[in-house]
Amino acid sequence: MPGYISHYINGKLVQGRPDHTSAIYNPATGEELRKVFLAGSSEVNQAVASATTALQSWSQTPALQRARILFRFKAILEANLDKLAAIVTEEHGKTLSDAKGSCMRGLEVVEFACGIPHLLKGEFSENVGKGIDSWAIRQPLGVCAGITPFNFPVMIGLWMFPMAIACGNTFILKPSERDPSASLMLAQWMKEAGLPDGVLNVVQGDKNTVDLLLNHPGIAAISFVGSTAVAQSIYTKASSTYKRVQALGGAKNHMLVMPDADLDMVVDSLIGSAYGSAGERCMAISVAVAIDKVADKLVEKLAPRVRSLKIGPGTDPDVEMGPLISGQHHQKVTSYIEGGIKEGAKLVVDGRGVKLQGYEKGYFMGGSLFDHVQPHMRLYQDEIFGPVLAVVRVPSYEQGVELINNHPYGNGTAIFTRDGDTARDFANRIKIGMVGINVPIPVPMAFHSFGGWKQSLYGDHHMHGMEGVRFYTKLKTMTGRWPTGIRQGADFNIPTLR
Ligand code: NAD
Repeated sequence: MPGYISHYINGKLVQGRPDHTSAIYNPATGEELRKVFLAGSSEVNQAVASATTALQSWSQTPALQRARILFRFKAILEANLDKLAAIVTEEHGKTLSDAKGSCMRGLEVVEFACGIPHLLKGEFSENVGKGIDSWAIRQPLGVCAGITPFNFPVMIGLWMFPMAIACGNTFILKPSERDPSASLMLAQWMKEAGLPDGVLNVVQGDKNTVDLLLNHPGIAAISFVGSTAVAQSIYTKASSTYKRVQALGGAKNHMLVMPDADLDMVVDSLIGSAYGSAGERCMAISVAVAIDKVADKLVEKLAPRVRSLKIGPGTDPDVEMGPLISGQHHQKVTSYIEGGIKEGAKLVVDGRGVKLQGYEKGYFMGGSLFDHVQPHMRLYQDEIFGPVLAVVRVPSYEQGVELINNHPYGNGTAIFTRDGDTARDFANRIKIGMVGINVPIPVPMAFHSFGGWKQSLYGDHHMHGMEGVRFYTKLKTMTGRWPTGIRQGADFNIPTLR
């Protein structure tokens, strides 16, 4: 149906009920672009049935053949990167160059997954006992499902399904209902690359669709990325039905600025990491922790840069910061700014009230900068997910480390310093999953793994890299001998070597 984003089940576009949809908006204009069907139990059951049927032969397909399909998918992605970035910008709002970069980071996971024959190689020990060998292999889990957030409509799906499928699983992707169009392009390109029908399915939907996936007995594992409240609930619900779960949540990432840091480098890094993608990144820096000595100078250098951010539609190549995702989110970020003022923080740059000619209905907001933010303030405690940077002043390095370690989120952090001992001590003692040393957004490459600590991740495995292989496979260990070998008669004791 034109104007509607469908599901993708068993290699075909499947429409839902026209009375059960959600609207998709262009955040730069505020106009409705199209609608997306929201899956109910009929579509979820169809997707699970199709993934279950496909699993039988896909799990037995040699890893080399699975990899060859991913190689072809990678080539299709490369050829269509601009098209993909354009749909991300249209539905999400981020700048085209940033959208393209995020698609590229997703493509790198496909590149990593192409090495699956090597990554799945097992272990073998000869002669663990006389004439007895032992070996271990990794086998697929079954039908896996992935639920993704709005802020990376391509990259986060690509963190999940290429790894799951490479490992021999079949997959059901449930993208964010706010920017779901890219998911259909990815699924159709996988088919074009040679993927058998049913191995990758997409069900569009919202919370209700997610609940159907969580409760479905035919699904073995859930990968989730989104806000912490939802991650907690998904982890609890899915593990109560004995599914394997990885649920990545929200963040409040701090950058510790030492007095010996290169301040111009710090300012450039903060401007990009706090305001890029309008702060709608789980690895955005939202708190600059400045040692007292350097704080005045830092704020003085930051303020004019924040005031002069170029704001506009993501399609304009000169723009540095696009709109927020929705009017509702714009209102939420605004209320955090109002709350911060009431709580007594000093608003140095006020990003509210931005209006752009020709884009009056867009969800634009300028960059905001707060100084003298205190740890008890909501402005400090909560994830705002907008272009708002809070400066917290601390007297010493030790207090900076304590502040970061006490925050309930633990996704990313960074230290800026010229001192190797300080940097090394920070990397060792900080209770955060991803740490940057003079690098503001330390997003691990595809061949490492992505994940936070504390309330930023529920479950035992990070995403992609070897953690992805471990999450999407079960370990099986065999111990064997041949009847032609040594016989010892019945043994009533646990075998030991003497
Ligand atoms: P969200 O939690 O609102 O939604 C994420 C997904 O869950 C969507 O597909 C949505 O349809 C579904 N969902 C929403 N509410 C649900 C509910 N009550 N029950 C079940 N499913 C539900 O997140 P969002 O607003 O789309 O994305 C922004 C959030 O994601 C931020 O908190 C950000 O920090 C986080 N995020 C985290 C990472 C990470 O790697 N840790 C990466 C990107 C984004």
